[in-house]
Amino acid sequence: MDKSYKNCQSCGMPMKKDPNKGGTNSDGTKSLLYCSYCYCNGKFTQPDFTVNEMKNFCKGKMKEMGFPGFLAGIFTSGIPKLERWKKQ
Ligand SMILES: [Zn+2]
Repeated sequence: MDKSYKNCQSCGMPMKKDPNKGGTNSDGTKSLLYCSYCYCNGKFTQPDFTVNEMKNFCKGKMKEMGFPGFLAGIFTSGIPKLERWKKQ
């Protein structure tokens, strides 16, 4: 799996916006799938999140950052299509 993604496959955040440019695998290499907020040392930082919890979490974050609610809604509606949630 060396495909790299433009967006984190857990929360949908653009990887460009991630100050660390991706999470870290358990062997210390960069994760190409997940951002540093979602994934650290080979583990999800919120391993018990359901897809709906992730949507609500991201909506809350976007509102904090000043995005209008409808934009947060559009953005987070794509989250269930990301790799982390596809199998569920
Ligand atoms: Zn993420």
